[in-house]
Amino acid sequence: MSRSPSLPERPRLELDPDMTPSERLGALQDHFEQLVQVNRELEDQLDSARERREALTEEVDGLERENETLKASSLYVATAEEILDDGVVVKQHGNNQEVLTELPNTLREGLEAGDRVAINDSFSIQSQLESETDARAQAMEVDESPTVTYDDIGGLEEQINEVREAVEEPLINAEQFDTVGIEPPSGVLLHGPPGTGKTMLARAVANETDATFIKMAGSELVRKFIGEGSRLVRDLFELASEREPAIIFIDEIDAVAAKRTESKTSGDAEVQRTMMQLLSEMDGFEDRGEIRIIAATNRFDMLDRAILRPGRFDRLIEVPEPDVEGRKRILEIHTEDMSLADEVDFEHLAEVTDGFSGAELASLATEAGMFAIRDGRTDVRTEDFEDALEKVEAGDDSAGQPVAFY
Ligand code: ATP
Repeated sequence: MSRSPSLPERPRLELDPDMTPSERLGALQDHFEQLVQVNRELEDQLDSARERREALTEEVDGLERENETLKASSLYVATAEEILDDGVVVKQHGNNQEVLTELPNTLREGLEAGDRVAINDSFSIQSQLESETDARAQAMEVDESPTVTYDDIGGLEEQINEVREAVEEPLINAEQFDTVGIEPPSGVLLHGPPGTGKTMLARAVANETDATFIKMAGSELVRKFIGEGSRLVRDLFELASEREPAIIFIDEIDAVAAKRTESKTSGDAEVQRTMMQLLSEMDGFEDRGEIRIIAATNRFDMLDRAILRPGRFDRLIEVPEPDVEGRKRILEIHTEDMSLADEVDFEHLAEVTDGFSGAELASLATEAGMFAIRDGRTDVRTEDFEDALEKVEAGDDSAGQPVAFY
């Protein structure tokens, strides 16, 4: 940086008292001239200082603009591969280019090899990024070998047969479809009230066909992953093809495939995109091999008809609330491992639980067991079912009015 020029010396006036008036006048005139000269020099210095200030202001403005553009311009994502004494080796995602760059002082403490960072065009690290959250893991449940069997499902024999025909057969007997020359259905839609065994059915098919069970809930997809719905649908199908044979189970499909409404909010547009992605994945499905899709909904009336076209969910299977026989079977299934007193009468229990779903019957059995434990017994008696019935009824108004046990 250039130094400022030193200021000229201030002229001094020294008048001798013995001077004659004309000598005095001469000295004053000299002094005046010196003052004018110094003033001129100071004015010159002031002008050049002003000029310099203008130049510097311009430079500062330029730097500020550059800084703003640097801050606003996109950054690249990279991984810090190796932290060295004199820098850090970063590998840019996408092109895998490795570069040795400086490690900013602010990150010297916290940065570790493997962390993700944001870098600019000249590879200098701008910030450290949060560790990548695996959206797939959050949105999907993957079960390599589900344990539910068809025998664990009560009262749905007809539905089990239909699902076996539409999903199991094409998976284990693909040649048969080839020979006959027909396309097996791509997807099966299970519809019916909550807690009636739709998820169980999908798990059981995966178990019986030794397929991986991959579950994704439509509502989670729309709520949690705003802007990522269509990417997640793509991921879902990709994951299934990595793990085939696989059963993709999309629960609450109405959340992504509800009828188009009049409103045009951005949320709706996002749901639409997710659904379009789902449809296009299903349409391009023929060559995908051993992957089958099962979807479920409690709101069949809400579904967009586009999803029900041939080649998509063209098999619709209604899973109703269990009838009296079904309820009896479900109660038997859920009390199989319980020590029951001989008096417990399933026929009667099935009759008084009209309107109960499979899930409610399962919780009735568990509650009855809890009452027995509370009473210090190991056998579960009719009175425990009575108490449980009262409790389940009280906690739920969907099953209608409280019922009289006898
Ligand atoms: P939702 O529509 O709310 O997702 P769902 O129809 O998928 O419900 P499931 O998740 O399969 O219902 O059932 C919940 C639980 O209820 C099961 O884990 C099981 O214990 C019990 N259950 C439901 N239906 C049956 C059934 N038909 N047989 C035996 N158990 C059943």
